[in-house]
Amino acid sequence: MLDLIFRETCPACDSPVDKKERLCGECHSGIALIGNLSSCALCGIPFGFYKDGEDGEGSGREGHLCGRCLTESFSFSKARSVALYDGKLIEIIYEFKYRGKLGHGGFLSGLLADNMPYDAGKLDVVVPVPIHIKKLRSREYNQSAVLAINLARSIGVRHDLFGLRKIKDTRPQFEIEKEAERRRNVKGAFSVADARIFSGKSVLVADDVFTTGSTSDECARVLLKAGASGVSVLTVARARWT
Ligand SMILES: [Zn+2]
Ligand SMILES: [Zn+2]
Repeated sequence: MLDLIFRETCPACDSPVDKKERLCGECHSGIALIGNLSSCALCGIPFGFYKDGEDGEGSGREGHLCGRCLTESFSFSKARSVALYDGKLIEIIYEFKYRGKLGHGGFLSGLLADNMPYDAGKLDVVVPVPIHIKKLRSREYNQSAVLAINLARSIGVRHDLFGLRKIKDTRPQFEIEKEAERRRNVKGAFSVADARIFSGKSVLVADDVFTTGSTSDECARVLLKAGASGVSVLTVARARWT
């Protein structure tokens, strides 16, 4: 009886699994890890990911930059994502974000920690992409903060949930198609209350999905302005946006 009650289930399909917060074999095979795919040295986009080839398909060699990073500049020094925003992962992230399935946070944070691409010893603090107080009230939690806390604990780095704040209640980025407009939407949306918090610190920004990178890049810009020595970005998933 106890066995039935405490049986662990797959976060994606609820079928029984052996280990807590792990996907069943079928769901796991539905997640496309970016891992060793050849990808841009800066923004981490896997080569050949965009259908129009703008990411420099065919130039996928170690240390290469994608077409976008050759022409645009980012404030973050590096961005990496664990998996493609595809299949099962879309469902899991949606439920985590909008359906109150906080339990999925453990699994998603585990994905981040298990596939951590940076040297944790060189990081000082992990921060989430903050949400505006109005959104926090209606949604009750910031999914990005859940990821940042769990990841920071797993890799033994400090986290800071309040140092970086969202001061503008912006339109959701997913409603906006054009990159220039996405950038405008988040421009000036974040602020650092006390610059001493990040002065000289190497900061990791954790989030669920990286689409164009304009949100995490604006966070990076503000953190650098507040004196951070460097900002890198880690997200669970990488989405297509073209
Ligand atoms: Zn499953
Ligand atoms: Zn790139």
